Amino acid sequence: MYLIKFIKKDKIATDTYTFYFTKPRNYRYIGGQYSEFQLSPTSDSKRWFTLSSAPSENTLQLTTKINLKLASSFKISLWNLKEGQTIHIQDAFGDFVLPKNLNQDLLFIIAGIGLTPLLSILKESLNQQLRIKLQLVYIVKDTDYLVDLKRYQKLFKSTRIIYTSQIPFKPNLIDENLAQLQLKHKIYLSGPDKFITKLRDHLIEQSISESNIISDYFDGYLEI
Ligand SMILES: Cc1cc2nc3c(=O)[nH]c(=O)nc-3n(C[C@H](O)[C@H](O)[C@H](O)COP(=O)(O)OP(=O)(O)OC[C@H]3O[C@@H](n4cnc5c(N)ncnc54)[C@H](O)[C@@H]3O)c2cc1C
Repeated sequence: MYLIKFIKKDKIATDTYTFYFTKPRNYRYIGGQYSEFQLSPTSDSKRWFTLSSAPSENTLQLTTKINLKLASSFKISLWNLKEGQTIHIQDAFGDFVLPKNLNQDLLFIIAGIGLTPLLSILKESLNQQLRIKLQLVYIVKDTDYLVDLKRYQKLFKSTRIIYTSQIPFKPNLIDENLAQLQLKHKIYLSGPDKFITKLRDHLIEQSISESNIISDYFDGYLEI
């Protein structure tokens, strides 16, 4: 367990905030991994969060959705953190990370707040000047919730945005992206758990091999 100090929070889209913390010198992780954050010793004080920072940055960051009118007691405590206040974090883990072979074709299908592991991967890829070209399908409620990804443009082979407020989301909307897949494509799915389960089942129905799919399921969200 590591002790970290809250630095600040920044708004990055509607109801979406990045929280910054100090980074212990011996804290190691790979872009896309997650950890458990504990705000205090009280009962409702722990949650899993992806580290939305890049490992090469000198702060640890988490990015989450908070609407104060509907927020859990955990999120209210997170919101109320004061600069310098200490919290705990565990070691990071998870397999939602870039493959060793960076020449592999990569498709990311991201729903809403599920963007967080990709944010870490994109920032690290820019910092390390990695030559990756990935395809992104980004599913969001509406434009207010879109996180600006312009600065990562050179890392994308293609980007496609699907708005769920205009069209109730049906997994077959991504079929035009699936039609272009090669056998060795790696597919990364991240977002609210029910949404991702539905997408994953759909991919498997389309005869995509389970071994090519890497999924991050966020609990606690009914919608994106
Ligand atoms: C691998 C992983 C990565 C995630 N990454 C992100 C991320 O980057 N950004 C993000 O916003 N969310 C992320 N989540 C979801 C996050 O952990 C929260 O569930 C979510 O933010 C909703 O929290 P809440 O307090 O609003 O909801 P709540 O409905 O209060 O709780 C949500 C979940 O927390 C559990 N929980 C409730 N009380 C406790 C307790 N006392 N101790 C432990 N668990 C409890 C519940 O069982 C429920 O599953 C991730 C989840 C996982 C599993």
